[in-house]
Amino acid sequence: ILRVEKLNKFYGKRQILFDVNFSIRQGEVLALLGPSGSGKSTLIRCLNGLEQFSGGSLFFAGQKVVTNEKSWQQLRQKIGMVFQSYDLFPNLTVLDNILLGPLKVQKKDRKQAEQEAIALLDRVGLAEYTKAYPRQLSGGQKQRIAIIRALALHPELMLFDEVTASLDPEMVRGVLEIIKELSEKDNMTMIIVTHEMNFAEQIADRVLFLDQGHVLEETAGKQFFASAQTERARDFLESMK
Ligand code: ATP
Ligand code: MG
Repeated sequence: ILRVEKLNKFYGKRQILFDVNFSIRQGEVLALLGPSGSGKSTLIRCLNGLEQFSGGSLFFAGQKVVTNEKSWQQLRQKIGMVFQSYDLFPNLTVLDNILLGPLKVQKKDRKQAEQEAIALLDRVGLAEYTKAYPRQLSGGQKQRIAIIRALALHPELMLFDEVTASLDPEMVRGVLEIIKELSEKDNMTMIIVTHEMNFAEQIADRVLFLDQGHVLEETAGKQFFASAQTERARDFLESMK
């Protein structure tokens, strides 16, 4: 569903990503792992146009992605993204946060969009919070809302960048459960950046290991955690224990 070919990224003169190649198939979960500063967030942001890449090509559903703002806007309806910081609109209720995309961007019928939003809220155990404002929610609740807000657009690919990194430990599990369920029940295609190695091990079909902007390994999930190919990756896994 997505293919990345020789992607390069510079910030000024400094090269951040070096000839990154990989692809992800429908229904697959790819964990993007690597030390801090290795370029994980930069890479994931290049995949939905939040960063412009400096060289290389991106193919989505077999089509080469044209890198202008209009085509990114269309693509972002198919590629959902959730970040570390919950980026809900503080002045909108939970329901209106979720409805914004379906109504404003996709011009869906309000009644139908509302029904879907409520079903999604119900699914993550937050049905009673439709009229609440983001400030009235815990971090874990906000992150669950951010996830279903992305799902309300019916994306074909979801990108998660350390969605549990700023959560209290007791909130982490609920958010990870939802991501896991998305993979298992909905067969959602996902690229996940996480520092939760147990979670990555449970969920990843494949691991892409980045180090200083280079892909050092692309390995089946189980194999990566059992016996990574490179010393850098083994050291990384050791340091995460
Ligand atoms: P972490 O695990 O800490 O989130 P990361 O793997 O996501 O790290 P990136 O945030 O992608 O790493 O950063 C990769 C490199 O790019 C870092 O050296 C960082 O300093 C640099 N960088 C990131 N954003 C910018 C920016 N806007 N301008 C210049 N350099 C940047
Ligand atoms: Mg990052």
